[in-house]
Amino acid sequence: MADAPDPFSSPFGTLFGDQMTVATGGPDGYVYSGAAQPLENFSMHPGTHVLHYASSCFEGLKAHAQADGSLAIFRLDDHVARFRNSIELLRMAVPETDLVRSMFIDAATANASHTPPAPGSLYLRPTLIGSDLNIGAAASPSTSTLLYVLTSPVGDYFPGGVRPLSILIETSIPRTTPQFGSVKSGANYAMALGPTLDAKAEHQVDQVLFATDGDTTETGAANFFLIDDDTLVTRHLDSSFLHGITRSSILTMATDLGYRIEERALPAAEIHERAHDTEMFLSGTAAVIAPVGTLIIDGSQTAVRDGQPGPNTLRLREALVAVQTGSADDPHGWRTTVG
Ligand SMILES: *Cc1c(COP(=O)(O)O)cnc(C)c1O
Repeated sequence: MADAPDPFSSPFGTLFGDQMTVATGGPDGYVYSGAAQPLENFSMHPGTHVLHYASSCFEGLKAHAQADGSLAIFRLDDHVARFRNSIELLRMAVPETDLVRSMFIDAATANASHTPPAPGSLYLRPTLIGSDLNIGAAASPSTSTLLYVLTSPVGDYFPGGVRPLSILIETSIPRTTPQFGSVKSGANYAMALGPTLDAKAEHQVDQVLFATDGDTTETGAANFFLIDDDTLVTRHLDSSFLHGITRSSILTMATDLGYRIEERALPAAEIHERAHDTEMFLSGTAAVIAPVGTLIIDGSQTAVRDGQPGPNTLRLREALVAVQTGSADDPHGWRTTVG
């Protein structure tokens, strides 16, 4: 990729590594060649299950160039486990942990030379789709599957520095159905799109924070936190929203740094009341930690503190990036060196 486009000036997810890993699955298990292969198009019958019944799920994780020149995947085993859980919730054949793990590692290793330096990274996009040829299978899962791991060299999610986001708090329209919220599936994104586009058009916000009947969960693609000098607050886990691995990393690191942790119900009214003196941020693999500077509640605008990224938010962000990129110790064993 000598004259390849620059990931730092290309939108996130628009460039691809030239190698991928692929396996096919069915009732008798999965078949994987054991090595990466050149990225190429799939040829698919128009009646393939995934094209009709959304039998698909994915993962998103990053491999970071380390200070010592090696490459390390962040929280590999947690992403493998969550991917298998999504597949199970979609009632498709669940591949063995070791196979999934090898396919993630092989894809990262084969594309290691395309990894941009920090703050860039190699984003991995494992995907599973239902490949049965059957348009009458609305009420049954796909028994055959295609599993593949795509990679994308990515730059900084916030070119030019971290930017405070504005979010609208949506208390009536849900993001997705409560029983499907923890599946990392494209169908959930499709459902959140309408309310998010409407909010962007009407209020010029960056994201929508879903708080159905006042019960705050997450935005369309990121978990939500409150933090002050003592305490970090986020919604307790249940099936209604995605269990972010960045969320989990933040809870562990904040505990290590001496913050008190509250995982509990988070009423939209509390977010409103505390905006004048409490920092707020979003978390996810792509943006890591994104400060919230402005809220839109019931059509009116409220600044979060002075509207700028707060010190506790930036402290957590720096601590997390330091573990990801190998400039800090890794006491919890979150890095897997692959090349
Ligand atoms: C992937 C995702 C997140 C963030 O999860 P991370 O593991 O931190 O990347 C949050 N919400 C939704 C809906 C997601 O799909």
